[in-house]
Amino acid sequence: MSETKIYLDNAATTKITDNVIEAMLPWLKEGYGNASSLYSLGRKSAIALNKARAQCAEALGCDSREIIFTSGGTESDNTAILSAAHSARESGKRHFITSAFEHHAILRPMERLEKEGFTVTYLPVYENGIVRPADLEAAITPDTSFVSVMAVNNEIGTIQPIKELAAICRERGIIFHTDAVQAIGNIPFNIHEQGVDMLSLSGHKLHAPKGIGILYVRDGVPLAPALLGGAQQGGRRPGTENIAAAAALAEALRASEAGLSEKTAKLLAFRGRLINEISRIPSAKLNGDPISRIPSNVNFSFAGQESETLILKLDLRGIAVSGGSACASGSLDPSHVLKAIGCTPTEAKGSLRITMSDLTSGSDISGFLEALGSILGQAPIRD
Ligand SMILES: *Cc1c(COP(=O)(O)O)cnc(C)c1O
Repeated sequence: MSETKIYLDNAATTKITDNVIEAMLPWLKEGYGNASSLYSLGRKSAIALNKARAQCAEALGCDSREIIFTSGGTESDNTAILSAAHSARESGKRHFITSAFEHHAILRPMERLEKEGFTVTYLPVYENGIVRPADLEAAITPDTSFVSVMAVNNEIGTIQPIKELAAICRERGIIFHTDAVQAIGNIPFNIHEQGVDMLSLSGHKLHAPKGIGILYVRDGVPLAPALLGGAQQGGRRPGTENIAAAAALAEALRASEAGLSEKTAKLLAFRGRLINEISRIPSAKLNGDPISRIPSNVNFSFAGQESETLILKLDLRGIAVSGGSACASGSLDPSHVLKAIGCTPTEAKGSLRITMSDLTSGSDISGFLEALGSILGQAPIRD
């Protein structure tokens, strides 16, 4: 296997940064106490956990008690939906709304609910990959009790009008959840300002380790826990808390907020360069809105090419990028996201997602562009 020298798959996962590792170490070494224990070793862990929670709340613009630590984005998304389903069974309002291009951590639970008698409306996302608030308004019925629309799409990086969507739901007493896994750390996002009721985020997409995330639940919004067990986190998410991971996430959120404007300026320049240069390749077509997308994301279809082949050829040169989505890899189904924005199956089959982070350098971009040019120069173009 070749060594990866240029990592451009930051929407799949990110490198843990040194400051984050530093923040974790004390809780992996001496500070191993159980946060529920009464003696000092345990109380130190409880204090660290409270501190991490407060730091996360500060970075996100919410209150500490509105934060539930989870194992990541998937658990947060599932919990939000299953909790809303629990309330819906009691109220009888079994109509949910989401978008056609959500992550599978949203779509799969929605599909299960449909099998159990719920009705789910999937909002269209159009060619630009952006949900229209008017479509949400039109989809709402007296039976609607829950809406979930992602803040930023994980394949094409398009930014959704969350504030407007949340306001429409708020006026009508409908719970609004957003999967903000790809938004947090990539664009400014203040929970209070956006007005959402529930939100999911994941640590490993912003330089914290895998296996830690947050489910934000606004004060007053009911939560039916997905796991049942001890009294940890007020019983809302039982299981002995992972102090090291919580401390890591708090540090990652702090650092990403502190570095966001610098990162944005740098990545906007890189994104512009990628889009300009790749657009010169005759077979290339940009997927998703060129402007209203996070600075770190570029997604192109190459007519007549196959993602897998391109990914493996780039890997041989030490470059990591992805196709439709990491979760879909290994299957031959074209990406549901690209299908939702109207790509033909052929276009979807030949897509590449290039995603940057604050660790990306100008020479990474040059190295990638050079490799891509030479690979596509060699490859036969059928169309
Ligand atoms: C990565 C991702 C998830 C899943 O998060 P995990 O922490 O890997 O479970 C959910 N939603 C989106 C948009 C993602 O990008």
